[in-house]
Amino acid sequence: MTATSEKLAIEGGKPVRQAILPYGTQWLDEEDITAVIEVLRSRWLTTGPKVAEFERSFAKSVGSREAVAVSSGTAALHASMYAIDIKPGDEVIVPAMTFAATANAVVFQQGIPIFVDVDPKTLLIDPGQVEMHISPKTRAIVAVDYAGHPCDYDTLRAIAERYRLYLIADACHSLGGAYKSKSVGTLADITTFSFHPVKHITTGEGGMATTNDSELAIRMRIFRNHGITTEYHQREQQGSWFYEMVDLGYNYRITDIQCALGLSQLRKLSAWVKRRQEIAQRYNAAFAEVPAVRPLDVRAEVSHAYHLYVVRLDLTRLQVTRGQVFAALRAEGIGVNVHYIPVHLHPFYRKRFGTCPGLCPVAEAAYQEIITLPIFPRMGEKDIEDVMYAVKKVVGAYLR
Ligand SMILES: *Cc1c(COP(=O)(O)O)cnc(C)c1O
Repeated sequence: MTATSEKLAIEGGKPVRQAILPYGTQWLDEEDITAVIEVLRSRWLTTGPKVAEFERSFAKSVGSREAVAVSSGTAALHASMYAIDIKPGDEVIVPAMTFAATANAVVFQQGIPIFVDVDPKTLLIDPGQVEMHISPKTRAIVAVDYAGHPCDYDTLRAIAERYRLYLIADACHSLGGAYKSKSVGTLADITTFSFHPVKHITTGEGGMATTNDSELAIRMRIFRNHGITTEYHQREQQGSWFYEMVDLGYNYRITDIQCALGLSQLRKLSAWVKRRQEIAQRYNAAFAEVPAVRPLDVRAEVSHAYHLYVVRLDLTRLQVTRGQVFAALRAEGIGVNVHYIPVHLHPFYRKRFGTCPGLCPVAEAAYQEIITLPIFPRMGEKDIEDVMYAVKKVVGAYLR
């Protein structure tokens, strides 16, 4: 496969694909569907046995003592901020290069997100920058395993310990990944996951928070259930009507229907992560021959879970912007995306916290150059080749 002189689809040429290939999507089989139907025929649709079973299996899978299932990854982040007692005015360090929900969870508790820049090679939070932004009001650091690459947890944990801060891992991208042979889910005080359909496994909507600290787990269980100390299933078993609301909580519960799907999906996780890694290796090899396309670095001590496959474009070698490459790839039928607009540049954060361009220059420069290519376990050989071919076609046509 070499660069071609074919006419680009955006200029009226024939697209590489007719139907758009998404950047990520779920994979459900008959086993998943049967598991869901079984719950629909059972007594418990929510707060029943499937929730507890999914929590136990998930905890076992990542090697954590506790797992608390909730209604979304965002709810898991919010529950983690509650559990560590983030209060109005508390500062929480978050990376600029993440999905808005990471910072939003801090704001839900009236905390102040302190945006910190990322490493230009991996786009992961830069531990040196973390340390520079710690103040007497800092309470916690949120590490985001961007694209599925686990952060530098030894360094981050050392900083957290030195300044007596909590370390929270937003691992919505990195389920199934590892750092120095330790599974994601055990590397921080609390680790959060999402089961949105584009993520590694899905429950439709859903999330999980894992921890080895049973006190934090108890707080999150109360928080997901209106701040009430027992759940309906427990009261049924005890034959009691009595309950107490001890704090202000939310309804962040997940259903048994969802957890049955999650249990069934979880069985496929390790095979799926392997498949994502294989696809990434294919891309890495293909793009090694394309100097204008630079995959992000992967450090040797990690097992990358590849929720996303992100490349940086070397715009000095191209006649066009990232936006034009993006549009041309879409026209070829490749469902590229951009992850992410740095959070501090969103209008809400500018208005509420006065953040502005220049705050995190590495993330802002990366944002001009990044593009997310399709990666998901169900991709076939033809899909993978279409992506590599289309990238070479488009980039080849736009070389300086
Ligand atoms: C998906 C995602 C979330 C939010 O998860 P939801 O389940 O959609 O609420 C949070 N942080 C990151 C980094 C994510 O990718």
